Parts: sequence; C-alpha cells; structure tokens
Amino acid sequence: MEPLLEISSLRLSFETLGCVSEPVRDVSFSVPAHGRTALVGESGCGKSLTSLAVTRLPPTDRAAAGGEVRFSGRAARVSCRAGDAALAALRGRGVSYVFQNPSGALNPVMRIGRQIVEAMPPGVPRKEAAARAVSLLERTGLPDPARAARSYPCELSGGQCQRCALAMALAAEPDLLIADEPTTALDVTTQKTVLDLIDVLARETGMAVLLITHNLGLVAGRMDDVNVMYAGAIVESGPVEEVLSRPRHPYTRGLLDAVPALDAPRDAPLRDIPGTVPPPDRWPAGCAFHPRCARAQAVCSAGAPPPATPCGARRFSCFNPVPAEAADAV
Ligand code: SF4
Repeated sequence: MEPLLEISSLRLSFETLGCVSEPVRDVSFSVPAHGRTALVGESGCGKSLTSLAVTRLPPTDRAAAGGEVRFSGRAARVSCRAGDAALAALRGRGVSYVFQNPSGALNPVMRIGRQIVEAMPPGVPRKEAAARAVSLLERTGLPDPARAARSYPCELSGGQCQRCALAMALAAEPDLLIADEPTTALDVTTQKTVLDLIDVLARETGMAVLLITHNLGLVAGRMDDVNVMYAGAIVESGPVEEVLSRPRHPYTRGLLDAVPALDAPRDAPLRDIPGTVPPPDRWPAGCAFHPRCARAQAVCSAGAPPPATPCGARRFSCFNPVPAEAADAV
C-alpha cells in the first residue's frame, strides 16, 4: 500500500533551564493510505510528542526538531524550531487529531454543533453545515444527535464528548486520523465502543488511522501494523499479528506479559516490567532499556544496539532478542 504519512529520522529536543533532553530520537515509520497503524509504549516514551511534532502542535516554543515528514508525497523537512513553518505541508491537508481528554479538547463555552461546523472545510452553506453536523453525530452512534448538537460539553458524559470529538475530526474529512490515547479517560465499556467506532468509521470513510496507546491489548485485531516505542525510539515494528504472536524485543515481550489474561487464575499476580521509564534528560547510555531488561548483557550498556534488524516484514533493535522459538510460544 502507498504510504500516506512517512516519518524519517524525526528528532525532538527541549532545553529547560540549560538542560537539554531529547524525548524523540531518530523515529522512522510510515502509515499507509487507508491503513491502520499503532504506536505503542508506556507513558513518557515519546509517542504523543512524535504525533504532535508531525501535526505541528509543539507543546512549547523551546523545542527543536529534525528529520523529514512526507504526507501524500509532499515533503516537509523538520529542521527548524518547532512552531516555525517546517510542517506547513501538513496544514489543511487532511490530518485530524483526537486527543485523550475529550472534555479538554472541546471548547466549553461553544455548542457542540457549532464546534463541528467550524471543523468543516470552508464553503459549506450554513444550513447544510448544521444538518451535516447532526448527521456526523448520528454516525458516531449518539442516541439523540440533534440534542447533542445543541449541548455544551459539560452537559454530556465523557464517552459522549469523545464521540463529539470524533464527529469533529470527521467533519474535516481527513485522510489520516491520529487518535492519541482516545480512551484513556473513559470506562472500560466505553473504551471498547469508541475504539470499535473508530474502526468502523475508518472502514466506511477510507481514512487511515494512527492509534497511539500504551495498551498492546487494544491493538490486536484492530490495527494492521504496530510500532513499539521506548525512550524516544522505535524498538520493534511490523505486522500486528506477527509482533504480538512472536515478539522478539524484550520490551515488547514485557508489554505483552503485562496485559492481564482473562482466563488467568484469580489469585495469579499481575505481571509488570520492573522499574519505570526514566525522564528524557536521563535516558541510560547504550540500550536505554538495559536497567529494566531481564536479557541485558554487558554489551547492552556499552553501546547503542544495532540498527533495527529486518526479519521478514518485522524489524527490531536488540543485542540479545527473545529467541524465535521462545517467542513462538507466546
Ligand atoms: S539490547 Fe540488551 S538491554 Fe536492550 S532490550 Fe536488547 S537485551 Fe535488553
């Protein structure tokens, strides 16, 4: 499939009180047209910053960026300070963003319908735009879309607000929807509904989806490709089925082990990855995962792992990967 979004060697660094940190380091991946791609990792690994850099929504004017972003074949070199026009090639060319906190993403003093109308491409007559807003809300499965269009965000639940945010994203008729932890603020039942809805709408409209999540369990069966990110870098990537059934990078393996199994005995302890993600100004030398990795060797702290090794459609970067036969047993 033709790539719609291609990110090459993306870097993002910040300077705070004279201290420089690099939360995104040499990230490369692509999202095919009409494809469904996931970016997975724990909080603090640089997933959201990667997508914010792509969409030119830098969190601060103290960021510096580098690399290249190609969208629909148009290149934007990311070589200036974020906030400049380096990513102007993406503006107005069909990228919509759904944020993790729907209440924070919606304007609290504007009715939902008007917010959706504002997100539409220019030139839609007023009456038609209002009717289209209601129809978009209906597509997201809201039971009374006309009432939702007249409502303010505070009159709706978190799940309803996230559906409204989705309707707003669809109003822009995007080629690519970036959904950044779109279900974090929702209860488990609503999480599934919203993710299923994104899936259905993507199939209906043909838009590509980049899903950002910390939960590998949400990726199975919904996404085509997955990129696993740790400490600002992609450590393993490939087709979802292959990566999830035969993880080769110890971090991917750890994330999978941390997903609770529904058929596990009730008293079975929950598994986790020891330790936490270090702050970006203190990424460990060598392989950044080595202080937490059960497979670490002396070489792992001495130097960076080799560039991602292609293994079929999959790539991973590790000195001592999970053996293929052990990975097969997952
Ligand atoms: S390079 Fe070493 S420390 Fe890093 S994930 Fe692989 S085995 Fe673990």
